[in-house]
Amino acid sequence: MYSDIIVIGGGLIGCGIAAQLASSGLKVNLFERGELIKEASWAAAGMLAPQSELTAITPLFLLCQKSLAIYPEFTKKLYEQTRLDPCHRSEGSLQLAFDQLSAQELEKKLNWQASAGLNLRKLTSNEVKEFIPSISSKVLTGYYLPDEHQVDNRKLSESIVKQAQIAGVNFHLGSQVTEIIVEQNKAVGIIANGERHLASKIINAAGSWASLFSLPNFPKHILPEIKPVRGQMLAVKASPKTLSYTLHSKHIYLVPRFDGTIIIGSTTEHVGYDKSVTINGLENLSTEAKTIIPELANASLVSAWAGLRPASIDLLPILGEHSQLPGFVFATGHYRNGILLAPITIELISKLIFTGKTDELLLPFSPNRFISTAKAS
Ligand SMILES: Cc1cc2nc3c(=O)[nH]c(=O)nc-3n(C[C@H](O)[C@H](O)[C@H](O)COP(=O)(O)OP(=O)(O)OC[C@H]3O[C@@H](n4cnc5c(N)ncnc54)[C@H](O)[C@@H]3O)c2cc1C
Repeated sequence: MYSDIIVIGGGLIGCGIAAQLASSGLKVNLFERGELIKEASWAAAGMLAPQSELTAITPLFLLCQKSLAIYPEFTKKLYEQTRLDPCHRSEGSLQLAFDQLSAQELEKKLNWQASAGLNLRKLTSNEVKEFIPSISSKVLTGYYLPDEHQVDNRKLSESIVKQAQIAGVNFHLGSQVTEIIVEQNKAVGIIANGERHLASKIINAAGSWASLFSLPNFPKHILPEIKPVRGQMLAVKASPKTLSYTLHSKHIYLVPRFDGTIIIGSTTEHVGYDKSVTINGLENLSTEAKTIIPELANASLVSAWAGLRPASIDLLPILGEHSQLPGFVFATGHYRNGILLAPITIELISKLIFTGKTDELLLPFSPNRFISTAKAS
């Protein structure tokens, strides 16, 4: 079977790129080994939080800021096309400290932001209590970051899948891609469930599994490596009034949904492809959550899960076509920021496919940056 584009991976990134390319008239086949949106894109918390996540103005920070800036238009368009609401919220978030050491660390962590002209406001403990009446009386200090947003990543994913269906993406579910077909040093297709499929471009959006394909006749070591980083999560049901802002403390974050559900995350664990939820993980999350909002001790447990963040060796995303394997385009390695980076990834990878040109914003994230490292090791 021949198509213009093959997308490997039915997460938010793969489905979003497939939808964009198909709606512009290309014939797109997407291969997903299981079901759509059941891995990291489902497991995430949905924070759109570059100021909370990053510690300097770097190319990644600028990419995240650009993506955050286009989020409102992105979710508005999705809603208009699909009538499914991704629940985009823009009330801002708070960073909090409950002891002296954390207060000092927080000040250090966020100091650079004021000098870089980013929007944030230091709060006394009383001001924190005005924002969040349910907060522990032990809170010492906080910062309000008014420009941070959130989406409900599961609802966002549903609307992206619907957009892809409307655009005519051809989904192959339960179709595991095992091999990239390379001919004359070009990627020309894939093998999925034992069958050959050819295309002009192959887009690798396979998340934590993006470096597991076999590539006969090609030195695989020049391709980037991706490792999974487990994050355990907990959801509890509280009154919708309990929390109306996303909160970050030194160890965890709390993300409120409109219906009173609070998402509590997350661990950062290097345990391979193991998605188990552990007693230790849940104990740490629930103990920290009660320290921040004591009334959560009585909140009912909704569910617990774990997901795998796709991490490259330098923890930066991998975005663009590989110069030594033309036809093979990477859209992966989004690690902790894949929900935030979805709109800009979809826009710039689609632009690359249509124009053959790599946008300047993508240059620091090229898959080619690993070539010399691979030769040396
Ligand atoms: C606990 C947790 C919390 C997070 N919180 C946030 C957050 O608040 N904000 C944020 O911006 N980001 C967050 N992230 C990160 C974000 O979820 C990811 O960066 C993003 O979802 C990656 O999307 P993806 O489509 O690349 O990967 P995935 O959603 O993992 O999708 C990859 C897909 O590829 C499929 N696949 C893999 N191999 C093959 C194959 N050989 N053949 C066919 N299909 C294949 C998989 O089955 C999967 O469906 C979080 C992640 C975790 C785990």
